[in-house]
Amino acid sequence: MQSKDLLQLAEQFGSPLYVYDAEKIKSQYNRLTKAFSKVEKLRINYAMKALSNVSILQLLRELGSCLDAVSIQEVQLGLHAGYSPDQIFFTPNGVSLEEIEEVHALGVQINIDNLSILEQFGTKHPTVPVCIRINPHVMAGGNENISVGHIDSKFGISVHQLPHLVRIVENTNMNIVGIHMHTGSDILDIEVFLYAAEILFDAARNFKNLEFLDFGSGFKVPYKKDDIETDIEELGKKLSKRFNAFCDEYGKELTLIFEPGKFLVSEAGYFLAKVNVVKQTTSTVFAGIDSGFNHLIRPMFYGSQHHIENISNPKGKERFYSVVGYICETDTFASNRRIQEIAEGDILCFRNAGAYCYSMSSNYNSRYKPAEVLWINGEGHLIRAHETFEDLLKNQIPLPESVTKQ
Ligand SMILES: *Cc1c(COP(=O)(O)O)cnc(C)c1O
Repeated sequence: MQSKDLLQLAEQFGSPLYVYDAEKIKSQYNRLTKAFSKVEKLRINYAMKALSNVSILQLLRELGSCLDAVSIQEVQLGLHAGYSPDQIFFTPNGVSLEEIEEVHALGVQINIDNLSILEQFGTKHPTVPVCIRINPHVMAGGNENISVGHIDSKFGISVHQLPHLVRIVENTNMNIVGIHMHTGSDILDIEVFLYAAEILFDAARNFKNLEFLDFGSGFKVPYKKDDIETDIEELGKKLSKRFNAFCDEYGKELTLIFEPGKFLVSEAGYFLAKVNVVKQTTSTVFAGIDSGFNHLIRPMFYGSQHHIENISNPKGKERFYSVVGYICETDTFASNRRIQEIAEGDILCFRNAGAYCYSMSSNYNSRYKPAEVLWINGEGHLIRAHETFEDLLKNQIPLPESVTKQ
């Protein structure tokens, strides 16, 4: 997408605004499937928690993607978007037995990530095909909050508990059809990923009835120029070869599953916000925008670096700015960042705003959530309207007067 298109969309739909480029989602999807084209049975389950607008789900469905859902509500959204139950995978963490049973009743493949629920579920429903989430305890980089493979992580069943796990499966006689791992975000080192894969293969040898192996995600995408990213092509080459060899050994053509979120949608997203005020203090020049961490929390939440451009002045001389939000709380998007000279009223564009941006937004400070636009075939389509005052009041129930007037 070009800056002039983004600027035009900000004028047309107002700010703040999320814009997603369909072409980029498509090219990322095709890039991933191409990298693993040597694998006979490949399945991509889009991790919809990254960006769950129904139009995005439908776009990915058209491309051939399936879904990875982490709550029953995500499952329901997926069904609403036209996915069939067998195209949806449920990989929750710490949810109740009841929720797992409800999702199973919808016809969706379930994944269990702790021994307690596994034992309860297996005892009650021994014939239901179940996938189990293993924690291989491999650190795949990224930061503390998004690394889920470490020893203290709440995710998955520790690979060290495999003997206990096998005993539960034997005692309940349950049907384990898949093994899953998700080492967390930001894989920088392919060798580390391949090492984790070996742990998964080892675990897989304990189960005779497998249909698939799910390698999760955690592919790193570039956030700025010259940033390192997961070399998908290299990973594809190496893991495909290793996976195919494992299938030969196992004696069955298994399905290889990935569940990328960021990889598919991060770079496709742009967040556009208007500069309300340029404020010079003794030490800093602030650019205050008509947004805050209520709309894009990643920089404050885990220090994510979102590249920022002034698309109203693309050729402007670069100066240093701290870009901050308008909510009443420290709310910094970027500190002393080089950005083309900013005037009040300019539109700033945040890159990598496709994944975990809108989906983590809130109404903090009683602000409305932004609108979302899908840019497809050279045209912008509104796929979610800006909120209105009614949205803030929705579900609020006034107390009866008998209670308020004492
Ligand atoms: C969040 C999540 C993903 C997606 O991770 P990305 O880093 O966005 O690719 C995949 N699988 C599971 C189980 C997840 O919770």
